[in-house]
Amino acid sequence: MGPVISVVIPVFNEAAILPELYRRLVATLTTSSESYELLFVNDGSTDSSLGQMVKLSERDSQVRVIDLSRNFGHQIAITAGIDHAAGQAVVIIDADLQDPPELIIRLLEQWRAGYQVVYAVREQRRGETRFKKWTAALFYRLIRRITNVDIPVDTGDFRLLDRMVVEAFRQIREKHRFVRGLISWIGFRQTGVPYVREERYAGETKYPLRKMLKFASDGITSFSFMPLQLATYLGFIVSVLSFLAICWVLYQFLVARHTVPGWSSLMVAVLFLGGIQLITIGLIGEYVGRIYDEVKRRPLYLVRQQLGFPRQ
Ligand code: UDP
Ligand code: MG
Repeated sequence: MGPVISVVIPVFNEAAILPELYRRLVATLTTSSESYELLFVNDGSTDSSLGQMVKLSERDSQVRVIDLSRNFGHQIAITAGIDHAAGQAVVIIDADLQDPPELIIRLLEQWRAGYQVVYAVREQRRGETRFKKWTAALFYRLIRRITNVDIPVDTGDFRLLDRMVVEAFRQIREKHRFVRGLISWIGFRQTGVPYVREERYAGETKYPLRKMLKFASDGITSFSFMPLQLATYLGFIVSVLSFLAICWVLYQFLVARHTVPGWSSLMVAVLFLGGIQLITIGLIGEYVGRIYDEVKRRPLYLVRQQLGFPRQ
């Protein structure tokens, strides 16, 4: 028999946080008086995180470690954790203590009340740059507008999934995954619990701007064709404008008989059209690239070693 609760924790260079994280998780889960397992996913850490997790798993039989062969990124690390979780309820939580472990108790309450997905909604974000808060707020609202999946705003991956949702999630093997969107797509009964997102306990964010942009474009492209349609709209607008311009040019030529050298207008038209064409080819490229990645059918991740799992 598996435990009642599995906690999935993606870890990428979080050595300074692990002892405190472990302490708070155990303290919280003990008060819940349910059986549990802690599933640490080492996402290619280069600091002493792995050594610490291995020690924890030797000391505590409820700790499991999945050591990935390299850094695969946050969303894949979460997926690896969910794939290996045995609990009836699976909680996903960041390692950096921005998501308070104590909230798990409130997530469990809603789960017992009959919800299959209980996500934590950030009412406030502490200790993050204004740029991060602003771009995050914009992103959640944009994605909500242009996708046809009901992705709740201001929620991260901190959430509880019922076994049914976990089984559904395991069937989804797409590469460029936007986990919170996929879970919204799965459906079932979902609800939110508000919380205040704390400051990072220690260390730096592991999401530099480059990763944030990739994350945002994965989220948008995997749930929306809007950017591709944008190309069509732009095409229409430009065609209408061009048609008007052609009428004007013909008028100048045939009626006014007044043709100027016209270098500036030509340059403007050429550059404008060139820009629009490059943008739209780029947009199409984003999707084609993703199609290519999907058809290659590589595994989502590779596991180097697994520690602390009960023998079957
Ligand atoms: N993380 C990961 N792989 C990565 C980047 C991040 O497993 O490539 C983990 C990280 O250790 C943390 C969680 O994902 O537990 C969220 O990352 P972070 O706190 O740096 O993101 P932020 O809160 O700044 O958006
Ligand atoms: Mg964080």
